[in-house]
Amino acid sequence: MKALELTAPSSFSLIEAAKPVPARDEVLIRVACCGICGSDVHGMDNSSGRRIPPMIMGHEASGVIDALGSDVAAWNIGQRVSFDSMVYCGKCSFCQRGETNLCEERQVMGVSCQEFKRDGAFAEWVVVPARILEAIPDGLSFEEAAFTEPLAVALHAVRLAKVKPGQTALVVGSGLIGLLVIQALKRAGCQKVVAVDLDRDRLALALELGADEIFHATEEKFTEEVDVAMEVVGASVTVNLAIQSVRKGGRVILVGNVVAQVDFPLQAVVTREIQVLGSCAAAGECGEALEAIASGEIKVKPLISAVVPLEEGSDYFQRSREGKEGLLKVLLKP
Ligand SMILES: [Zn+2]
Ligand SMILES: [Zn+2]
Repeated sequence: MKALELTAPSSFSLIEAAKPVPARDEVLIRVACCGICGSDVHGMDNSSGRRIPPMIMGHEASGVIDALGSDVAAWNIGQRVSFDSMVYCGKCSFCQRGETNLCEERQVMGVSCQEFKRDGAFAEWVVVPARILEAIPDGLSFEEAAFTEPLAVALHAVRLAKVKPGQTALVVGSGLIGLLVIQALKRAGCQKVVAVDLDRDRLALALELGADEIFHATEEKFTEEVDVAMEVVGASVTVNLAIQSVRKGGRVILVGNVVAQVDFPLQAVVTREIQVLGSCAAAGECGEALEAIASGEIKVKPLISAVVPLEEGSDYFQRSREGKEGLLKVLLKP
């Protein structure tokens, strides 16, 4: 089969790979499309240690079931599906509590690290454990369904924020996940959502997608206090902005992590009794994500920058890396 391989750090080739064979608990999916994730773009140079070449990336996909492992009874050939990126064991204490994103044995689709390697969906076919599949509702396109995983990440973060109707929220970072978080906050009943970014185009899109106010991070100063701040960048300046912006007793959800360490305003957090929580991936929100897209509550079409054949994948990875064009989601079609 045709596959886009990360052959060496930051270097791709279109290769002829062996078509994967599903294990007993897996299905074979004919990939319709697969999104390029920010973690793929950051990880392609192998600086994260999570994309050790040679490997096939891609964990935001949709497609059609083409073959079933011998133990798979709940799915049929021909069904349209997408899937979670997190492959959990279903047996450990975390999985038993429903915290599948924290599974002791967790693996991630399209990731290759010291502990495991799982080829992803930048290929004509991919194998996926049946337990992470989600059926695509009728009428929803494969392109929209490819947002299952990134939207589930946003929904998980908003779930941890425990927003109540009428509350106010700040979203620091209006990239792809930030724009989904903004919509998820409004869907959860937030009365006012304020978006912060450095990019005017992204702020304009944030307004279009439901943000009530926008702030340019370096040109304007945010002086209000909100109930909840969502940090979707992961750097010292942005983490500090999120913490400074919440009221006493407010909640800060940390989603972004572009750097491993940040300056932390310990005294402000303690004396103002601010709750700071990390949010990792998703734990059971994929079905909700598909429903929210299908019902129109969450709009993903405005986030699609390009839908291109797998052959152009290498080019789009380099362009995403350069970051000059403001690309949001690029979908590759094998
Ligand atoms: Zn992703
Ligand atoms: Zn587990």
